[in-house]
Amino acid sequence: MIKITLDKSKCIGCGTCWALCEKYFQEGQDNKSHLAGVKEQAQEELEVAEIGCAENAATACPVQCITVK
Ligand code: SF4
Repeated sequence: MIKITLDKSKCIGCGTCWALCEKYFQEGQDNKSHLAGVKEQAQEELEVAEIGCAENAATACPVQCITVK
């Protein structure tokens, strides 16, 4: 499995990740990024079978608050 980690404390809500990868990223209630299907919290984690577009989102994030491994 591949783990996507999102540090919302660094997120500036630019929208790049959900524009590039709506499968895994959404706009949260705080207008910051949010991982699909998990509880909204300061540090979010999502395990997925395929990395898919998540790598593009992690690379494109201007504050590098997404990790994929
Ligand atoms: S690309 Fe980065 S800074 Fe922009 S909304 Fe997504 S996680 Fe936040």
